Amino acid sequence: MRESMSKFFSEKFSSLTPYTPGEQPKERKYVKLNTNELPFAPHPSVLAAVQGEAGKLQLYSDPENSRLIEMAAKTWGVKKTQLVATNGSDEILQFAFMAFCDKDHPIVFPDISYGFYEVFAQLHGIPYEKIPLREDFSVDYRDYVGVGKNVVIANPNAPTGLCLSVAEVEEIVKSNPDNVVVIDEAYVDFGGESCVPLIDKYDNLLVTQTFSKSRGLAGARLGLGFACEALIADIQTIRYSTNPYNVNRMTEAAGVAALEESDYFVNNVKSIMETRAYVKETLESWGFTVLDSKTNFLFAKTDEIDGGELYLKLKERGVLVRHFTGERIKQFNRITIGSKEEMDIFLTAVKDILKEKKS
Ligand code: PMP
Repeated sequence: MRESMSKFFSEKFSSLTPYTPGEQPKERKYVKLNTNELPFAPHPSVLAAVQGEAGKLQLYSDPENSRLIEMAAKTWGVKKTQLVATNGSDEILQFAFMAFCDKDHPIVFPDISYGFYEVFAQLHGIPYEKIPLREDFSVDYRDYVGVGKNVVIANPNAPTGLCLSVAEVEEIVKSNPDNVVVIDEAYVDFGGESCVPLIDKYDNLLVTQTFSKSRGLAGARLGLGFACEALIADIQTIRYSTNPYNVNRMTEAAGVAALEESDYFVNNVKSIMETRAYVKETLESWGFTVLDSKTNFLFAKTDEIDGGELYLKLKERGVLVRHFTGERIKQFNRITIGSKEEMDIFLTAVKDILKEKKS
């Protein structure tokens, strides 16, 4: 039980452990490689679009997000009725837990994955089971084939960065026709394979994506859900029962403008992937184990220094990465790929720390 709980707090939430977001420190300026944001500012046309809407803030946003849905349908080649827009992809994920899970419809997910899945299950009183990743930290898709429960998998997974193929996901979806399979594609643009094309074929697949990573709009809060019309209609019922104005007008405009600037998006992703290869190679040449990431972060460890200690020493030097304390992953750190300049600062700090450790 939390110490700060008031006497009014509902009993049903008394044992809830909320999600812990990555640190957003204000006391000094860090090289921030801890929350998987894009290091590049939004395109000027995104700024102009937001400014254009700012003068209309006395008006509610469009609950149908018509402009955004139209543009997204064109971008991804899906029908407008196969799409829903949300306040970050955290919201579509939560809507999925609310819409498709209950005590008779439990959910399974990997034991090492995005922390919010467990929080949503606890928040909504949904029974859940965590399926261990393999020794090499990959998801074994066979664990989910015919599992007979709802499934949520981040693909690529976080914080490992590893991917399932579309064929493997399809096996999971096909073999669980009476359950919903949610594929969280928050990081898919950095080298993963999207399962969006499968939504025409299966009525039990929901794919989620976000504008927070590859499209550089984390602060705007914009996510998308892709599924067959019936699943989207269910999600709409939840959306209209909680907050039909979940996407504010500046965010909708930012999203449309970001989709229009496709060259900017492609170049940013390319730059992150190149920098990722450079950082991975460098760390490996220093003896680090670095998982084969298809995301905008690397998950890395070395025998030279404890993961928690490296995290703290980097922080002292003004570089923030993300450290998790789970037993199997506590030697690792998750390092967001920033600009080449930021990564050189990170690499220099790592080199100094290792040198200091040896001397
Ligand atoms: N899924 C995964 C795997 C994530 O890492 C994140 C980012 N924390 C999200 C979903 C949610 O991101 P957002 O709400 O910003 O779209």
